[in-house]
Amino acid sequence: MNPVIVWFRQDLRLADNPALTHAMATGAPVLGLYVLDDETPGAWRLGGASRWWLHESLQALSSNLAEICGRLILRRGRADTAVASLAKEVGAAGVVWNRCYEPYAVERDKRLKADLTQAGIAADSFNGSLLAEPWEVRTGAGTPFKVYTPFWRALRALPDSGKPLPAPKAITPFVGKVATDRLADWALLPHKPDWAGGLRETWMPGEAGARKRLSRFLKHLKGYRAARDRPDDDDGTSHLSPHLHFGEISPRQVRHAVQTGEHGDDGDKFLSELGWREFSYHLLFHNPALPEAPLDAKFAHFPWTGSDAQFKAWSKGQTGYPIVDAGMRQLWHTGYMHNRVRMIAASFLIKHLAIDWRRGEAWFWDTLVDADLANNAASWQWVAGCGADAAPFFRIFNPVLQGEKFDPDGAYVRCWVPELAGLADKFIHKPWLAPTPPENYPEPIVDLAEGRARALAAFKGLSRE
Ligand code: FAD
Repeated sequence: MNPVIVWFRQDLRLADNPALTHAMATGAPVLGLYVLDDETPGAWRLGGASRWWLHESLQALSSNLAEICGRLILRRGRADTAVASLAKEVGAAGVVWNRCYEPYAVERDKRLKADLTQAGIAADSFNGSLLAEPWEVRTGAGTPFKVYTPFWRALRALPDSGKPLPAPKAITPFVGKVATDRLADWALLPHKPDWAGGLRETWMPGEAGARKRLSRFLKHLKGYRAARDRPDDDDGTSHLSPHLHFGEISPRQVRHAVQTGEHGDDGDKFLSELGWREFSYHLLFHNPALPEAPLDAKFAHFPWTGSDAQFKAWSKGQTGYPIVDAGMRQLWHTGYMHNRVRMIAASFLIKHLAIDWRRGEAWFWDTLVDADLANNAASWQWVAGCGADAAPFFRIFNPVLQGEKFDPDGAYVRCWVPELAGLADKFIHKPWLAPTPPENYPEPIVDLAEGRARALAAFKGLSRE
């Protein structure tokens, strides 16, 4: 029988995978495929930390498939070409996939669907990554949303898609000979230097790792509303973001797990964070230039005056502001940064240093294991004040006050900036005031009052234009 190809993309899982379930239901042999496509995304090809994650996740998916008699074929190159050529090679009856929403993916997939259909190969796509499709959630006037709260209200009012789909127990394998790349030959893992030690210590990519994270988090969900803002509390948030990005777990599975427990207000707050993920995808789908251009066009001519040296200090965690440096070092070491600290570090870059938010966005893209085009772009625009429902530009986070409020004992700073570990609590977020400031820690690279005044003046100039 002619096989059906399941083209895995950002849905590297077996459970609650509508494309896989559909392929199984045809009764045809099933062949899994993953294509490493560094061409179609252009500047948004996978960053370094994502490549590490992908290697581990594909390994996990491949062995999960093997356990149920399935297999995963690996190919490299333009995905549309690679998919079409494999379909031809094996005489596929159909190709199925779960949708992606990056602008380049939408265009490519539309083209591929038309080409396959024309060649007589059934092509079907499904929603495997979102609670609701970006086009399903509409204002009363039928337009896309620009404000989060009514968006989330409208999404929650949609009919629930029900229980997540079970993972298949056995796959009818395709027995023909098919060439596949070797994962190791893709060189996704770093070497010389191997900077991934901290990532290996922190994460367990793959479906089993995602399930483990979720069940650990469900035990800590009570108190989420307050704990989510504390970077010193490792269990304060779920750490599900890279698992969700690579689709090792679906938002439907997460929502279902939360809704089947008694989590009250904390459960609602957590689900509303998943709502921000949905909102970011909604924004990206309806504004394909979101990663590159400010949604508020007024910001297109913002006077970015920060220097390369300041950008370097920021990216290396050497700004002299402990909470910023702790976040940037956590990012470098683990591929992750706490949400509160992402906001502080991003605000510091954009406002105190007057450096274009797109440089920060690109740095995060390369270094985050959860680098996600929609979430990253929407969040950077949110902090920069130029996005949808964004923080007003004049809301400038003070890194000292933020540190004192959300890391009051300095435990987070002490963990990531060991040079400061010996300081008394009252100096931990302003070490330059300590009687003997540590010699191996930099002086602040910018005066907070001056940086703030410069940012506000630049913003005022924009408003006058
Ligand atoms: P939890 O608090 O446990 O939240 C659960 C899930 O909800 C997250 O896994 C995530 O999928 C989603 N979520 C939570 N907060 C947000 C948010 N503000 N926007 C969109 N989705 C959210 N998130 C990414 O997944 N990828 C990115 O590239 C990314 N870049 C960011 C850049 C900046 C400047 C900022 C301020 C935030 C960024 N975020 C990004 C959003 C947020 O910081 C992370 O999703 C969150 O820290 C992940 O940790 P968690 O899974 O423990 O979150």
